[in-house]
Amino acid sequence: MLIKTEAWPQLKNNKPLIIAGPCSAETEEQVMQTANKLKSDNRVNIYRAGIWKPRTKPGSFEGVGSIGLSWLHRVKKELGIPVAIEVANAKHVCEALKASIDILWIGARTTANPFAVQEIADALKGVDIPVLIKNPVNPDVALWIGAIERLIKAGITRIGAVHRGVSQFEKSSFRNNPEWQMVIELREQLPDILIINDPSHISGNRELIHKISQTAMDLNFDGLMIESHFEPDKAWSDAAQQVTPEQLTNILDRLIVRAETPEGIELKSIDELRKSINFIDEQIIDLLSYRSHVIKDIAQFKLNNGMTVFQKNRWSSLLAKHQKQAEKLSLEPKLISKVFHAIHQNSINTQNRLLSKPIKDIQQ
Ligand code: PEP
Ligand code: MN
Repeated sequence: MLIKTEAWPQLKNNKPLIIAGPCSAETEEQVMQTANKLKSDNRVNIYRAGIWKPRTKPGSFEGVGSIGLSWLHRVKKELGIPVAIEVANAKHVCEALKASIDILWIGARTTANPFAVQEIADALKGVDIPVLIKNPVNPDVALWIGAIERLIKAGITRIGAVHRGVSQFEKSSFRNNPEWQMVIELREQLPDILIINDPSHISGNRELIHKISQTAMDLNFDGLMIESHFEPDKAWSDAAQQVTPEQLTNILDRLIVRAETPEGIELKSIDELRKSINFIDEQIIDLLSYRSHVIKDIAQFKLNNGMTVFQKNRWSSLLAKHQKQAEKLSLEPKLISKVFHAIHQNSINTQNRLLSKPIKDIQQ
């Protein structure tokens, strides 16, 4: 399904949109000091701070609550920077609107709960405030889009999607696995939506912020949401991933921002390369078609001779052989494994159909 959204056309020209500020508002002094320092980098467009914090365990710092609204109001009034907070229910929405907060965001744990998202959408009916929607904690693009649709249906026209990665069971170098393909799929379904990357919650570690931000720029994201605190090591939440305003400036200075089709460049040489790619892709398809004809003959042979469709030893040795060849050609064995799993699964399905013996997902 394709849904068109207006998606903040005025901000689209200001790429990358930078949202920065602490994970949590802690004290009025911390909010003001951080905002003052961030203001001196004029690339910061929006100031963020959580005042109601959805924490994994009870007993952790759960935000200062409503009192933080007046501190953010000061940032807006005295420094002229639009301010953003997280909302998770109708009460938060009401309080945020009363305090003239400029932008709301829906956190990852809330996006995963359609009841909560609907409650927020209902509370926003008739108010056209920009809303950012983080991806849910699990890699479910449909759930993310569902939340976006609830907001669109409530009449919100300025919507942004925030990519903050997803939880994983195994330990890795990321706090939340980026699963970049989620964003590619989101963009396919909502081509006009504003997409912002949140390298802070993906990394969980300030050392990785620049690298993740650069990948986001290379993938044509519209903006970045980066947690920044004037004294990150003393932060009451997410200390390890926050950067000082000076570090943020350094990260932004080093960022290479690319355009999809930069103005005034000669596209001829890339057109030639693309022609080669198109030709190669056509050949891949031709070969797959040739392969599928051979598969049918193999199926016939197996049928005539009472052989099983799936031959485990042959499949394992073939895969190992393909991976070895890939390595020799400097191709990633993982890629080859994925491609051949798909090809092999398809071949098994074809043979099953021909032998009329449905053996489902036999290699899983
Ligand atoms: C946050 O932005 O501070 C936050 C809680 O993020 P998430 O919802 O992505 O975990
Ligand atoms: Mn945080």
